[in-house]
Amino acid sequence: MNLLGIDFEDWYHPQLVEPFVPEDKKIPTMFKGLDKILELLRKHDVKATFFVVGELLESNPEILDKIIDSEHEIGFHTMKHTRLDSPNFKEKFKDEIKEFEKLTSKKSIGFRAPTFSLNKKSSWVIDELVNNNYRYDSSIIPAKTSLYGIPEAEKSPYKITSKNLEKNSENGKLIEFPLLVTKFLGKTIPAAGGFYLRTLPLKIIKNAIKSYENKNRVSSFYIHSWELTPEYIPKIKLPIKNNFITFHKIKKTFSKMESLFNQFEFTSFNSYLNKLNK
Ligand SMILES: [Zn+2]
Repeated sequence: MNLLGIDFEDWYHPQLVEPFVPEDKKIPTMFKGLDKILELLRKHDVKATFFVVGELLESNPEILDKIIDSEHEIGFHTMKHTRLDSPNFKEKFKDEIKEFEKLTSKKSIGFRAPTFSLNKKSSWVIDELVNNNYRYDSSIIPAKTSLYGIPEAEKSPYKITSKNLEKNSENGKLIEFPLLVTKFLGKTIPAAGGFYLRTLPLKIIKNAIKSYENKNRVSSFYIHSWELTPEYIPKIKLPIKNNFITFHKIKKTFSKMESLFNQFEFTSFNSYLNKLNK
């Protein structure tokens, strides 16, 4: 089975964009694209988990209703898209998770770290999620990239603890769903969405999904709201490298996702967990 997480955030939230946007220019536009995303999922009979940046619910609370009314799942992606390993974020996170609980009437049981920033420095988040009755996390990419990755981590879902991010711990209370990776030119690389979906030939992504399916291994996928609705991203001036990583071939994302939906089954994390428990 393939699990789909849509990181629902605004155009100014990505780490390589945020520092280049003045505060007064951070005006939300991504809520405008939600209907298009919901229609895409409906057309292909896909349920997804929306990992939402909480501050978007403060300005546009209808986002939550639309997601829930379409029987998708809502998950947590912090309140402002702060890296977990930012200085002094632990204390703020304790407040943020309560705030999100209020905004979503306790509906969230899943978490995704902004920029996959779950690592040794930020492993405290696992305990916070457990303390707040979360059931799963999907923030680990078992490959090394310049921005993130824990190459030694398991590739199949496992019970994670703050003391052991990489391997199954029998006493773990939180399930980790690591993101899909594949071998490419002898190296393990992410194949789970985002930049890699946009940049790699689709065949490589499809083969990665197939190889997990052949092993009966659950694959976890991610895509950003703004990648599916680039028409709502205003013109921004970024350094060339940031621009490349964030926006390269962005207009291909939608049709590539459609092609994956035509060939493979995807569902939300909670509907997968519910089926497991039946
Ligand atoms: Zn994000």
